[in-house]
Amino acid sequence: MRFPFRFLLRHAWQRVFLAFVLFIVPDAHAAEVEIITSFSILADLARQIGGGRVSVHTLVEPGQDAHAYEPRPSDARRIKRAGLVVLNGLGFDDWLPRLARASGYQEKLVVASDGIHPLAMHGEGGNGEHEMRIDPHAWQDVANTRIYAANIAAALIAADPAGAETYRANTTRYRAALDALDDDIRAAIASLPQKRRRVVSSHDAFGYFARAYGLTFLAPVGAAGHSNPGARDVARLIEQLRNEKAHAVFIETILDPRLIERIRIESGAAMGGTLYSDALSPPDGPAPTYIAMMRHNLGTLMVALATHSH
Ligand SMILES: [Zn+2]
Repeated sequence: MRFPFRFLLRHAWQRVFLAFVLFIVPDAHAAEVEIITSFSILADLARQIGGGRVSVHTLVEPGQDAHAYEPRPSDARRIKRAGLVVLNGLGFDDWLPRLARASGYQEKLVVASDGIHPLAMHGEGGNGEHEMRIDPHAWQDVANTRIYAANIAAALIAADPAGAETYRANTTRYRAALDALDDDIRAAIASLPQKRRRVVSSHDAFGYFARAYGLTFLAPVGAAGHSNPGARDVARLIEQLRNEKAHAVFIETILDPRLIERIRIESGAAMGGTLYSDALSPPDGPAPTYIAMMRHNLGTLMVALATHSH
């Protein structure tokens, strides 16, 4: 392609001027706070609260599994430069504090889940023995996400006091949107008969959702490394799908698609659709923000639970 402003480059000094303009303009809009988050849901929350004053980078990208994340050398370099690092906590992203310490990061580590009422979950240890652990997927209850938003807002106000008014206004607006979301989920689930509220999903990510909104999730694939469940987990899931009176089985986006296909074929179960548990979709997908994700999941659940029978 021909450069359309060729005439600008006729003289050397103009060339210098053009280079100067191109270099300086992006910098005029530099963010006040550079935020690093462990995974995509926190990145969205940070953007909602931070608005135009922040730039946000998530280490685990949309569609990726944070449980199994292996940090890259470039992550440590990014964290060292960051103004704020936000993680989930509850054992979800323990690799991040380790990475932050190793990188020489000096600022605050914000644990977004601080102050929530944690839920215990059944799991399996490395040797397959049964153990109790804390369920890290607290954002699946919208009331918890209000706490996440408040924690992120407090950290931003501390890191960038000049933006306090903006952060408070954004938080107020976002809380109203969360309240509306919470109301809509409650109203939808309440419209289902009790016997239609049993669901099988591919991993234990919906404990908080179940507790808050009154669904039962049967999820035999354990929370540890669930994007690569063992053969025994998969066999048990297929067995359960054949035996349980579950209305529908849902698959999560972070699970290996070949595994999903195998479960579908061997169980013969009706597939309720895809739920987003631990990661947003890319921007052009159905769940590019937290609120869009929760609304997508609710819509998928409602269609399947209102129509499938066994
Ligand atoms: Zn998970």
